[in-house]
Amino acid sequence: MNEELWRLAGLLLLAVLVGLIFDSVTLLLLLVTAGYLAWHLRNIKKMHDWLHSRNNFYPPDGGGVWTDIFDQMYRLQKRNRDRKKKLASYLTRFQSSTAAMPDATIVLDELGQIEWMNGAAQETFQLRPHKDTGQLITNLVRIPAFRAFFDSGIYDPPLVMPLPHDDSQFISIRIIPYGQNQRLLIGRDITRLKQLEQMRRDFIANISHELRTPLTVIHGYVETMADDHDSGLEPWQPSLKLMQQQTSRMRNIVEDLLTLSRLETGNQSPRSSEVSIPALLVTIREDALALSGDQQHDIQLEVDDAIWLRGASNELHSAFSNLVFNAVRYTPAGGKITIRWYGDDKGAHLEVRDTGIGIPPQHIPRLTERFYRVDIGRSRDVGGTGLGLAIVKHVTQRHKGRLRISSRLNEGSTFCCDFDKEAVIRKASIVDKTA
Ligand code: ADP
Repeated sequence: MNEELWRLAGLLLLAVLVGLIFDSVTLLLLLVTAGYLAWHLRNIKKMHDWLHSRNNFYPPDGGGVWTDIFDQMYRLQKRNRDRKKKLASYLTRFQSSTAAMPDATIVLDELGQIEWMNGAAQETFQLRPHKDTGQLITNLVRIPAFRAFFDSGIYDPPLVMPLPHDDSQFISIRIIPYGQNQRLLIGRDITRLKQLEQMRRDFIANISHELRTPLTVIHGYVETMADDHDSGLEPWQPSLKLMQQQTSRMRNIVEDLLTLSRLETGNQSPRSSEVSIPALLVTIREDALALSGDQQHDIQLEVDDAIWLRGASNELHSAFSNLVFNAVRYTPAGGKITIRWYGDDKGAHLEVRDTGIGIPPQHIPRLTERFYRVDIGRSRDVGGTGLGLAIVKHVTQRHKGRLRISSRLNEGSTFCCDFDKEAVIRKASIVDKTA
């Protein structure tokens, strides 16, 4: 730029000198300035033509300061072009890899209209790429569960549903929000997984069922032999007692496995009736006192008689008794167990609190897994199957509830089943006073 100023100053000086010689300084100054302006205007026109021409990448030759300006602009344009090329190649690479993905992938705009879909999505949802792009996904996938899931805005856990055109196949649908209110829908075929799950369930149900009768027979004979003190079986008594213990443990496991598979294969929601939880808890407390026997646990019942629950009585009995019996089993003799049944504005809650051995915190998240025990030896000693809490979790979930566990080692544990208020029935009068 400095160079250009010097050039202008030189031109003007030359004009003044020549002007002095010919005695027309003003005229020469005017001519030089007009010439200088014309040169700039010509270069501006060159720049205009260059910027508007589509084919000409290379800059025109301007001379002076314009060479520098054209060079800078050329470099800037080149950089932009390279960046665009790179972005376009990224996009093509992304689209071709997504298109090749076996999972159905659909890009949706903020209104839920289809922006892009891959081949798997076209096949899975029977979509036509040209006709259906721009359409609302909820108008094309007309399954009520899908619409409810899509509109809910809560996409965790994913939705599992049968395929719209083939209900023997299952798909798991994830929706991932991104960018500016856009959503990515990913559908994965989980038919095989579902079949394996069903096979596992059938296998456990069948094997438990098949084992039940022979076990009952063996247990019956062992019991009779153990009770028979007259015949020559006296030397066998210790072994018979052990066999009796083990067969009854196996029977408990088989019964619990059958209960679990009934819960898993049963209807989505349990057969519903009005269940008097207060009355149910009274019987469970009596059974718990019998289980406690000589250990003399102090079992307290604090029950709101006016609160009942809508659900399956046998399932709730099984879950609640599991919690109370666990409290008895894992609380040393003379310990205190409190069973509370109460309601609040959120719903109804069953709380079983004990002053027992407690559970180390790292085990708590895994307690409801099948056969998970903190201390296997101890669980077996007290006649546990390792399936009790799995049953409790299933039953609570089937009644639209949640199981909460809190515990302190050597101080005690609290197990709480929270039920939503939709499941709660409030009775006007006190219905059961036997507690
Ligand atoms: P189990 O038949 O072994 O009792 P559960 O599924 O009922 O099986 O319980 C799983 C494990 O959780 C038990 O083995 C025990 O270690 C622990 N547990 C359950 N309830 C209690 C409790 N009230 N106090 C301490 N530990 C408990």
